[in-house]
Amino acid sequence: MSSNTLEAFLSPQLAELKEKGLYNEINSLQGSNEATIKIAGKNFINLSSNNYLGFATEPRLKKAAIDATEKYGVGAGAVRTINGTMDIHDELEKAIAKFKHTEAAIAFQSGFNCNMGAISAVMSKKDAILSDELNHASIIDGCRLSGAKIIRVKHQDMDDLREKAKEATTSGQYEKVMYIADGVFSMDGDVANIPEIVKIAEEFGLITYIDDAHGSGVMGAGAGTVKHFGLSDKIDFQIGTLSKAVGVVGGYVAGSQQLIDWLKVRARPFLFSTSLTPASAAACIEAIRIMSEEPEKIEKLWENGHYLKEGLSKLGFNIGNSETPITPCIIGDENLTQKFSARLYEEGVYAKSIVFPTVPLGTGRIRNMPTALHTKEMLDDVIAIYEKVGRELGVI
Ligand code: PMP
Repeated sequence: MSSNTLEAFLSPQLAELKEKGLYNEINSLQGSNEATIKIAGKNFINLSSNNYLGFATEPRLKKAAIDATEKYGVGAGAVRTINGTMDIHDELEKAIAKFKHTEAAIAFQSGFNCNMGAISAVMSKKDAILSDELNHASIIDGCRLSGAKIIRVKHQDMDDLREKAKEATTSGQYEKVMYIADGVFSMDGDVANIPEIVKIAEEFGLITYIDDAHGSGVMGAGAGTVKHFGLSDKIDFQIGTLSKAVGVVGGYVAGSQQLIDWLKVRARPFLFSTSLTPASAAACIEAIRIMSEEPEKIEKLWENGHYLKEGLSKLGFNIGNSETPITPCIIGDENLTQKFSARLYEEGVYAKSIVFPTVPLGTGRIRNMPTALHTKEMLDDVIAIYEKVGRELGVI
C-alpha cells in the first residue's frame, strides 16, 4: 500500500490514462520471442520484435552464454572501474571495434544507458546539440541530461541542419556543437543522409553522433549505416545496441581510442553501474562472429523486407518511405489505426499500432518488423490478412 500522498498522485492519473485508452497493457509472451509467439495460449505471427536476425534464440549464442556462465558465473560482481574488468568484456569491445571499423569501443548495459552516458560525458551547458526531431527517446533524454542547449532540426532536412549549424557555430554562444541523429529511424525505416551530414559537420566543425540501433546488423553488411556509406572514420560517435540484430542486451559506442578512453572515466552508467553479465558478453561476441561469417542471414532479412513491402504496397497500402526492412503501414487516423491493429491481432498477426505522440498526429501506423526467421508462407498469410482487414475497414 502506498502512502496517502503517493496514492493521491497516482490514482487519478492512472484512472485518466485507462479511461482515455492510453494505458499500455503489456502482453505476457509464453516462451521465446521468435517469428511466431504465444500469448494467452494462442499463436501469432510476430511482426513486433527487433530480433532482426533471429539471434535471440540462435543455438550457438545460447551455447556461448552457457559456456561463459560455467566459466565466469552469472554476474560480473562489481562495476568494472572498481573491481577490474573481466577479459570477456574486453574481448567484446575489441570485437565491436573491429566490426565497426573503429579504433576502439566501450560497452554499456543497454542502448538507452549508452546514450545517457555518452552524450553527457562530452556535452555540457556551455554547448549546443542539433537533434533530429524524430530521434529516439534515449537520445532526447541523454541530451537533456547533458544540460546543453537542444536545437531541434526538421526530420532529415539538410537545409535546416545547415542553417541551424551555421547559426549555432557563429553565434559565439557555445563552446561545442554536436549533431545527433538515428542512423535508421525506427518508425519510418528511412536512413540518415550520412554523406551530407559529414559535409555539413566538416564545414561547421560539428561533433557527429549517429545512433545506429536499427542499422547495426542490418545495413553495411551488418557493420551499420556509417559503414554502408564508407564513412567510418568521419563520424565521431557510432552508437549501437546489442539488443536488436545482435539479439542479446547492451549498448556501445565505437569511435577513436581517445574518445573511448574519455568515456571510460566520464560516462556515468559505465563508471557507477555493474557491467553486462558474462553470458551476455559471450553471446554478443558469438553474434558478431556469425554476422561477419554468414551474410545469408542479413540477406534473408532484406529479402523478407522487400517481399512484405511489395505485397502490402501492391494491395494499395501506404508503406511510407522506408529504405530498410522496417515496414510501416500508414493508416492515418489514430482510432482507425488502433482498430486495425486489434483486428490483425484477432486474425493472428501481432503487429503494434504506433500513434501520436510517438509519430506525428494523423500518421498513425502499424509498424511491421519482418526478420530473417519469417518464412515466405508466414508473410503470405500476413499479406492475405492485411487484405482482409484493409477491405473490411475501408483502408484499401
Ligand atoms: N536508440 C535507438 C535509436 C533505439 O531504437 C533504441 C531501442 N528502442 C535504443 C536506443 C535503446 O536500446 P536498448 O533497447 O538497447 O536500451
